[in-house]
Amino acid sequence: MYAMGHMEKSDSIDNEKEKILKAILFSEDLPTIPAAAARLIGLLTKEDTEMSEIADLIAMDVSLSSKLLKVVNSAFYSFPNEIASISQAVNLLGLNAVQNLVLSVAFFSLKGRDDVNFDYKEFWHSSLARAVAAKLIYKTLKTPLAIDDEQVFLSGLLQNLGKLILANTMHEDYHKVLEMQEAQGNELEDDAIETACLGVDHPLTSYVMAKEWGFPDSLAQPLKYHHRPDSYEGDDDAVALNAKVCHLSDILAKVLSEKDPQKYHKLFRTTAKDHFCLRPVEINQILKEIHVEVDRAAEGFGLEAEQTKSVEETLMEANIKLSLLNMSYDEINRKLLEQQVQLEKLTRELEDKNTILENLAYIDGLTGVKNHRFFQNALDEEISRASRVDDCNLSLLMIDLDKFKSFNDTYGHQVGDFVLIEFCKVVVGQLRKYDLLARYGGEEFVVILPETTKDEAKQVAERMRRAVSGHDFKDGDNSYAVTVSIGIGCGQPANPDFKKDDLIGNADSALYEAKNAGRNTVMVYTPLVSKPKKRWFSR
Ligand code: GH3
Ligand code: MG
Ligand code: MG
Repeated sequence: MYAMGHMEKSDSIDNEKEKILKAILFSEDLPTIPAAAARLIGLLTKEDTEMSEIADLIAMDVSLSSKLLKVVNSAFYSFPNEIASISQAVNLLGLNAVQNLVLSVAFFSLKGRDDVNFDYKEFWHSSLARAVAAKLIYKTLKTPLAIDDEQVFLSGLLQNLGKLILANTMHEDYHKVLEMQEAQGNELEDDAIETACLGVDHPLTSYVMAKEWGFPDSLAQPLKYHHRPDSYEGDDDAVALNAKVCHLSDILAKVLSEKDPQKYHKLFRTTAKDHFCLRPVEINQILKEIHVEVDRAAEGFGLEAEQTKSVEETLMEANIKLSLLNMSYDEINRKLLEQQVQLEKLTRELEDKNTILENLAYIDGLTGVKNHRFFQNALDEEISRASRVDDCNLSLLMIDLDKFKSFNDTYGHQVGDFVLIEFCKVVVGQLRKYDLLARYGGEEFVVILPETTKDEAKQVAERMRRAVSGHDFKDGDNSYAVTVSIGIGCGQPANPDFKKDDLIGNADSALYEAKNAGRNTVMVYTPLVSKPKKRWFSR
């Protein structure tokens, strides 16, 4: 209860949190600070403390004093003369500075459990980075407030102390914090994650711990408000300022260590401007110096750490990573799209080409109607289809232009060609949906008439004959009259006697009869008609 007694009513810690914090403070796993440091803090609150008393106290702890001397003689402090003793340090730096330095050194000698899932090395280093950042920012402010540089350094250093405390005293649940941090990335502030997983967060824990150790409010309060300095409602300007400095130092340290330095760099610039009205030149100076100062301090405090990258380098590296990431993503996307489009285009082209080639293979070059090959296939299909249906009739028209040899001779081959083309148009105009016109060869054409009886075929043929003879074959200024003779073959493919060759042959025979009958005539094949074999094929 000792520590809770140190907290004031205004701390307004709710019962649940108070219970958790009590458990933390009574935990066997609570890290302890060196005895000398504890006693030193006790002396801080005493009015009549002698300088020599403090110097003696520190000097008694050999480890602490040697570390302190190492720090004050390090490049981080860069005093012109070597400081050989604690009393000399007190004389040169002032009592407050030495006290704060002792506490900083003591902080680094805090011992946590080895068996908890906590990155101590990262913790010490990131705490130091915050301390150095806080001091650097504070020095840039040139504020009239009389806070010691070393006090700002210490606040910066201790702001995340709560993390170490939570990891050690609540180690059974602390893995949840780490897991959630891993899952959230930078989306959620770590204090929100801690509250969600543990019931309390590190700023409050840092504060409670500092109070437990007997730190004055001027040091402890900033720890509590370092995430939300604006929420400090007290009237101590030094606390308000120190909390803001801690807050900004936290952001600056994140520029150096987080995965998304650009985000924190931007945040650092705007926060520095909003909280302290820092000018860009001052902000740039801090950003330029921070990594050098962190490394100097790390050496001074004896921390093992890799060389800190400059903010510039960190941002550049992140930019490259980001652009590489974007580039490869974009590239992949673009390539995939390109390939897909190309593939689709190729497929379409290929399909088109195939269709064209296929069509070309089956189309008569002069008239554009189907050719002999196509006719043969189509007739096969039609026979096979009709053969499955009893009594299904199939008729075939064989059409031959009359006296076409002499037509060519009289008007020329080109006019003859024109007539063949025009003739096809006339016939196509007479066809029904499933009828098929094909060029059989020369000036001979065939029409397949599916599901058509002899009589129906006769009607179709007659209509066709009249359409041709009545048609004005007009080529330019010249008009020509053309007639056709048509022979009709008819059969039922389902009939076992039905033969394809007979169907064609019969139509052919009927045509021969039509010619014999004087041309411009339609003839239907009847078995009585004698077959003048090979006549139509021999010419
Ligand atoms: P018939 O009335 O007995 O059928 O007499 P015909 O002159 O039409 O018969 P014949 O078989 O003796 O002549 C067919 C002619 O058709 C011969 C040929 O010059 C012409 N012909 C065949 N194919 C083409 C063609 O593609 N273009 C042109 N202009 N004439 C063609
Ligand atoms: Mg002819
Ligand atoms: Mg002919």
